[in-house]
Amino acid sequence: MTIFDERESEVRSYCRTWPAVFERAGGSWLYAENGRAYLDFFAGAGALNYGHNNPVLKGALIDYLAGDGIIHSLDMYTVAKREFLTAFDELILRPRRLDYKVQFPGPGGANAVEAALKLARKVTGRTEVISFTNAFHGMTLGALSITGSAFHRGGAGVPLAHATPMPFDPSPGSDGAPGSSWFERLLDDSSSGLDKPAAVIVETVQGEGGINVARAEWLRGLAGLCQRHDILLIVDDVQMGCGRTGPFFSFETAGITPDIVCLSKSIGGYGLPMALTLIRPDLDIWQPGEHNGTFRGVNPAFVTGTAALHAYWRDDKLERATLAKGQRIATTLTALAESVPGTVIRPRGRGLAHGLAFESGELAGKVSSAAFERGLLVETCGPQGSVIKLLPPLLVTDTELDQGLALLADATQAICLSSALKQKEVPLCTRRD
Ligand code: PLP
Repeated sequence: MTIFDERESEVRSYCRTWPAVFERAGGSWLYAENGRAYLDFFAGAGALNYGHNNPVLKGALIDYLAGDGIIHSLDMYTVAKREFLTAFDELILRPRRLDYKVQFPGPGGANAVEAALKLARKVTGRTEVISFTNAFHGMTLGALSITGSAFHRGGAGVPLAHATPMPFDPSPGSDGAPGSSWFERLLDDSSSGLDKPAAVIVETVQGEGGINVARAEWLRGLAGLCQRHDILLIVDDVQMGCGRTGPFFSFETAGITPDIVCLSKSIGGYGLPMALTLIRPDLDIWQPGEHNGTFRGVNPAFVTGTAALHAYWRDDKLERATLAKGQRIATTLTALAESVPGTVIRPRGRGLAHGLAFESGELAGKVSSAAFERGLLVETCGPQGSVIKLLPPLLVTDTELDQGLALLADATQAICLSSALKQKEVPLCTRRD
């Protein structure tokens, strides 16, 4: 029995999927203590967009530590925070004509979401929030109340209140229409029983929910609906922001401007904890200290976050490269889906967030394990874990991308074939599309 089995809580999870003891990392690679190399298409669930131990960010961090820079400062003014805010203003907000006040909540994505929900309720004086089917917003109680997964909701231990799920695009109830027609009908009907919500919170691409990509026209319809009904629109860009789908913010493609935006994961640049709640200036009605937390000023994360903005967001090179790599993945996954006759596999995604949806969580789980045996980390997500999620670092090379996709293809083909043979029936099932 290892110390992990003996002492670490049963709640541990990723280590069960990938039972190696990791020791070092660089770029797109993780190395176990036994020396085995793994290609990382998980990238810290989106916290490592610039790769492991990115040398540019590491240099800035080492210099900062060597110079005895401030490490912990709550929300006191520091040079590191000033430089981060200046870079964020000059390189991200102004070029996109976005005007947001920046709130540093606690360091995780759920902290950014909690702050957004509290503020929306405070501003509007309303209590209800609209979320979407298959949404994921984190594990704290407010974030859980707007999260879809019954498994995670069940862990709350108290009723999860003041939130109503609507069908996410393009699920059946959304009627395939722009806007969100079911939601619109409820809002327009004074007898629908739906109280006017404070806010709508949406992911433009649902990450944990199964890489479900909302159409730009659906998002625009939703934004219009919120505006017409005086409801605040919150985009949770915790996983899909910081360039994951191509542009810095995932909502840029749809041409919408949310009232509040949640960012975390890769905003600290180096895998260091940081979260932001971006607030339309007139909504910033917080009283000083009304929402606080000890770890809101992790200065090393300001330093690496600033270095990342300067290194990768001065122009659109990273965005274009991400879109090109995404296209490369899409082409390969489409070919892979077609190369496994008899098994329904549906590829989908945007930028460097892609998914391969299987018919069952069991099959996807086996493919993920087979990929791990071959030296590739890919996690499962979506309903019953039925979707393999590909989230490589944005700086992955084309060679690494091809290498990882080849490992995934090999794992998929091996599992689907053996699954078909087990049922003594090839092909396993009939393709639906
Ligand atoms: N929001 C989204 C869209 C996420 O994907 C996640 C985490 O995966 C969260 C919020 C919660 O972030 P954290 O785990 O840092 O609290």
